[in-house]
Amino acid sequence: MARLASCHCLGLELECEGEPAKISLCNCLDCQRRTGSLFSVAAFFPREAVRIVKGEAASFSRSSASGHPVTFHFCGRCGSSLWWAPERMPHLVGVAVGAFADPSFPMPAQAVWTADKHQWLTFPDAIPLHERNPPPKGAASQDCALQKGRNDGSSDPSSVQILPYDPRHFAGVDGLWKTCFPDDPAWNRAAISVADKLQFQPGLLFVAEINGNVAGTAMAGYDGHRGWLYAIAVHPDQQRTGIGTMLVRHAEEILATLGCRKINLQMRAENDRVAAFYRRLGYTAEARISMGKLLKR
Ligand SMILES: [Zn+2]
Ligand SMILES: [Zn+2]
Repeated sequence: MARLASCHCLGLELECEGEPAKISLCNCLDCQRRTGSLFSVAAFFPREAVRIVKGEAASFSRSSASGHPVTFHFCGRCGSSLWWAPERMPHLVGVAVGAFADPSFPMPAQAVWTADKHQWLTFPDAIPLHERNPPPKGAASQDCALQKGRNDGSSDPSSVQILPYDPRHFAGVDGLWKTCFPDDPAWNRAAISVADKLQFQPGLLFVAEINGNVAGTAMAGYDGHRGWLYAIAVHPDQQRTGIGTMLVRHAEEILATLGCRKINLQMRAENDRVAAFYRRLGYTAEARISMGKLLKR
């Protein structure tokens, strides 16, 4: 059985196959702010059971105190958040239960962060309540770990956001690429390749922003057969802080939701440090010869 989750304007649709692994209700203040309502109800599906069938999503990532970011995907036109991907549970995707517009959808198996619950709200006795920390293996704990970090005062105020590229990022991206890829040929400069990317799959160019400044970039592409990663760059002052991992994971998630089964990337053969970075993220060197041809345009 497949269910369809749709945003408010019906421009973005997600098909979810089978039954959710878990349904959880969260009262945390982050969920309240995100939804504009008093709690969020998430149906967690295996990642491979979920695919976009209509529209293109914008996304917003938050880092967490544990260092595991959560990426929220929403309709860029009407703003409804439709699903989110907790990196700490890379096999699951949370889908907004309200987006199914189905009053017969199964009831949540738990309510978490009831410490932040509005006092007049009561839930059925059949739903176990967890005042703060959800059970350790609860899928719903992911976005709420962030809330905990904030309460502890231990989260980093200069939090990283992974955002779709916007023209205001141009100078930052241009400078970053000149710093990180000083030997790149002219056709890889931002003035050319950003403009080209904005003509094709513009939603697959991402920027890591810290306090409004560009700290990193990732470009992805999917041609219906393979996904590709390009221009994974992190400012030298911000390297080894997890931003590169966030960017790669973010691009992987979006490529996966487009139906991509395998991601390829290229790097200079002598770049051992970069190769080690990708190995840590699960990439392996394949015995291939990389060939290219520059087309005259
Ligand atoms: Zn919409
Ligand atoms: Zn929450």
